[in-house]
Amino acid sequence: SSSSKSSRAEPVMSKQEMQRYDGTNFPWSKEVEQHLRDSFHLIKLRPLQLRAINLTLAGRDLFLVMPTGGGKSLCYQLPAVCSQGFTVVVTPLVSLMEDQIMYLKSTDVPAVMLNASSTKEHSKAVMEGMTDPKSPFKLLYVTPEKIAKSKLLMSRLEKAYKAKLLSRIAVDEVHCCSQWGHDFRPDYKLLGILKRQFPSVPMLGLTATATSSVLKDCEKILCVSQPITLTTSFNRTNLYYEVRIKEPGSDASISDIASLITSRYKEQSGIVYVFSQKDAELVASELQKRGVSAYPYHANMDPKDKSRVHRKWTSNKIQVVVATLAFGMGIDKPDVRFVVHHSISKSIENYYQESGRAGRDDCPADCIVYFGFADIFRISTMVVMENTGQRKLLHMVEYCQNMDRCRRSLMALHFDEVWDDEGCNQMCDTCRHAKDYISVDITQHAREVLQILELAASMDEKVTPLKLVEAWMGKGPAKRRKMIQTTALSRLQAEAVIVHLLLQEYLREDFSFTPYTTNFYIKLGRKALLLKNPTHAIHMNMRECGDRPAVNTSAAKTREEVVSGNYCPAQPQQKLLKEQSNFSQKRDLM
Ligand code: ADP
Ligand code: MG
Ligand code: ZN
Repeated sequence: SSSSKSSRAEPVMSKQEMQRYDGTNFPWSKEVEQHLRDSFHLIKLRPLQLRAINLTLAGRDLFLVMPTGGGKSLCYQLPAVCSQGFTVVVTPLVSLMEDQIMYLKSTDVPAVMLNASSTKEHSKAVMEGMTDPKSPFKLLYVTPEKIAKSKLLMSRLEKAYKAKLLSRIAVDEVHCCSQWGHDFRPDYKLLGILKRQFPSVPMLGLTATATSSVLKDCEKILCVSQPITLTTSFNRTNLYYEVRIKEPGSDASISDIASLITSRYKEQSGIVYVFSQKDAELVASELQKRGVSAYPYHANMDPKDKSRVHRKWTSNKIQVVVATLAFGMGIDKPDVRFVVHHSISKSIENYYQESGRAGRDDCPADCIVYFGFADIFRISTMVVMENTGQRKLLHMVEYCQNMDRCRRSLMALHFDEVWDDEGCNQMCDTCRHAKDYISVDITQHAREVLQILELAASMDEKVTPLKLVEAWMGKGPAKRRKMIQTTALSRLQAEAVIVHLLLQEYLREDFSFTPYTTNFYIKLGRKALLLKNPTHAIHMNMRECGDRPAVNTSAAKTREEVVSGNYCPAQPQQKLLKEQSNFSQKRDLM
């Protein structure tokens, strides 16, 4: 079926033929170059932009897949000014449309829009402009609703088509056509009418969603046969990905972040992403206390304050924005040298987007995420309403807990891409410290955890993740301590074991709603029964240097520096864990 991740059929164009479109000796090449400089004030096209622009100017239908911020818009804006008449751009959101119009105003490229709130006079002027041979605008932005519902618009488009003034049709965020995409919009389903009515007008679909099943679906819905699909890799080779373990309590990680910013990132621009508005205020003020020029940014702020923070950060008058997800759309600062996540993101896709605001100038930049036990459950209760929220969050947790696989390769899975370790080039912490962990048998630990949960269940008690860790570590009520086997694992190790059991489905989450909050509990999972089998064993990777990431590294450092840094020699951790469990048994007997 077309929903499978089947590889694309034989290419529409051979490689050699495709390479011809990287050239600059087409009839339009001079004009393209001139408008790039004089209208858009840009120096150079990015590699795939040139190919896309040549292909669409040659009249081919095109799907363009590039990550957000990759510069898709220019691939229809620049051809628009180099063509007769005007280009229709279908955009899902009025706000996106307004952004584009505002940007184009600054470039002197005439552009107009039509949406539900356009006035009668404005609409009338636009409709007339469409058949004016002098082309008063080069770009016409419309919502899909307008195409679907306005017969007047369709009739004007038809007139323009006959007069050869409809030069091109661009469908932005084209994945909105497909119900398999994450952002389906019903009115996009009706856009096939454009190609059916105007078959000789080249069409351009643009998206950051690379799934081939979604693209195939979009082809059908838009009635384009055999478009050429151009895809840039989502691999951001200049970004260094690192995960750090967050100590319980908020201060340790904030101090860690502050010292990073004041030393490694001294005078460099960055973003610290946080979980909530409250955290934004708190982390910003804690960073300020530690001498960092950091300001909060979140949805609940006065719009004036928001735009002031944004402006000052863009002009390097403040160094760091401490932001919630609200700081996203339209953030386009090229020289962001670090994006630190004070809490994990709710999915790998989110993490990719958020961390991807670093290094837009293609110079090295760092993406560091602080991985804390308690944060998993804070975010879990937040995404509980989303159908796939939990699964996506657990993928993010898996990404963080991972010690042996390249971080990039884990991200690539989510974009239907394969990036091997060579595609990483040691630009992630696991590739740099490939042998920095050991596999540990945690079967006995798992049994202890299960025993606590069984005991609680027998007493009809629910157990929160925090209570579970504390009970296991012997910090619960005294009478309970006598009934369970406590552990001598460190807190971080105990937490890591519980996360592992959750990821492996020995444990599972259990939500309950009160009128005021959502509570998160831990229950026995699908695989818990396996532990009744005395020969069943569970292994997990643990760091050789205890709990903390062994080494401080960054994109800027070489491997040699790293190795001569604070690298901990291997410890016989396996033995250590064994001794600890013996110790804990003894203590229980006391
Ligand atoms: P997308 O739609 O792919 O997310 P945009 O089209 O909004 O990305 O472009 C993102 C940013 O990149 C914009 O600020 C744009 O001006 C900039 N940009 C695009 N092409 C180039 C280029 N060739 N050189 C420099 N900046 C560019
Ligand atoms: Mg875009
Ligand atoms: Zn790697």
